[in-house]
Amino acid sequence: MCQQVAKGTRWGKCGHFQRHLVVAVMDCCQTNCERSCNHPPRCPLRTCITTYGREIQQDVDLVDEFCFQCRAAQAKAAGIPLR
Ligand SMILES: [Zn+2]
Ligand SMILES: [Zn+2]
Ligand SMILES: [Zn+2]
Repeated sequence: MCQQVAKGTRWGKCGHFQRHLVVAVMDCCQTNCERSCNHPPRCPLRTCITTYGREIQQDVDLVDEFCFQCRAAQAKAAGIPLR
């Protein structure tokens, strides 16, 4: 299955990746993958792969912090109401 190449921010303290944009797609060249250039345009099969595989993450910057989701989860766990 094809993979999207994404650029984004790496959050250093939790290691999460925050995607900014998809810059490219790595084509798997399989005829049974609807995302591939090798897939027939009018394919009758219903069994073909329609989803992308695990995205390839390219870090454009590294922030030595927890990501927003992790900070929200921590705040929630600590009983701090989010506004
Ligand atoms: Zn594919
Ligand atoms: Zn197909
Ligand atoms: Zn995180």
